[in-house]
Amino acid sequence: DAPSDYCSVTIDDVRKLIKPRRKFSHKGLYGHALLLCGGYGKMGAAVLAARACLRSGVGLLTMQVPSSGYTILQTAVPEAMTLTDNNRKHISELPENMDNYSVVGLGPGMGKEKVTKTAIGQLLATCTLPMVIDADAINIIASSDKLKAQLPKNRIIFTPHPKEFERLVGASKNNYDRLQDMKEFCREYSCYICLKGSHTAICTPEGKVYFNTTGNAGMATGGTGDVLTGVLTALVAQGYSLEEACLLGVYLHGLAGDLALQKVGETGMIASDLTDHLPQAFMTLT
Ligand code: AMP
Ligand code: MG
Repeated sequence: DAPSDYCSVTIDDVRKLIKPRRKFSHKGLYGHALLLCGGYGKMGAAVLAARACLRSGVGLLTMQVPSSGYTILQTAVPEAMTLTDNNRKHISELPENMDNYSVVGLGPGMGKEKVTKTAIGQLLATCTLPMVIDADAINIIASSDKLKAQLPKNRIIFTPHPKEFERLVGASKNNYDRLQDMKEFCREYSCYICLKGSHTAICTPEGKVYFNTTGNAGMATGGTGDVLTGVLTALVAQGYSLEEACLLGVYLHGLAGDLALQKVGETGMIASDLTDHLPQAFMTLT
């Protein structure tokens, strides 16, 4: 591969991407995100993704959660509208009407129940929106050739950590081969992958790879990936292209971590520190 296939993402690169908010704008202009997240005992993932989505400028947010998560979501995130699934513990269905949404984010806290797999199959078969797919939604798709064959082209961002990547794309011999395998997968499925790590690698459907330059080891703690799902979903809702959303979202997520680092250090950092510092991260770029 050509050296030009690889580059790193700097603050100047992402600053150029920011779309300023217009004075006479209203919430209808910033998109309506739908997040399918959460499960019994893992509602925190849904809360984190929801808060991150709202802190990243989305106009409206609707959450679909298992019915046992209703009060949790409405209490922890009053800004989000909440739809309840008929299933008490797991997501098992899609909202009746998908017409009003601009993007769907899914995966955090979802679990891998059969009912959830069925709902994801229905989503892939019927939904024409862009999608941000993370966590157990990746694991579910990775475990089914039938679902993989249904993946729509040029509409998906996957955000796997290395284990989820291995399930989705396969095991690679070394880090260099892993990049080659990532490029091949993105070309084959015409999708984006953000392979998360200390330098998250973003791969486009053309096989171009960007390395992120923000973030720190304080972020190696549960829930930080769920925050990224919310950020990316919000950016796509606002009309950023999938590529812009990946570059900007991954950078901002790491920057929020770097800003949190100055307040709480590495050891005490938790995922909520990232959602708390997203506003300052956006302010740094605008
Ligand atoms: P997840 O494993 O899904 O919770 O995602 C973890 C998130 O934290 C990803 O966005 C990673 O890029 C980030 N992260 C984890 N460890 C580090 C690290 N050592 N340095 C920078 N970022 C990290
Ligand atoms: Mg995760």
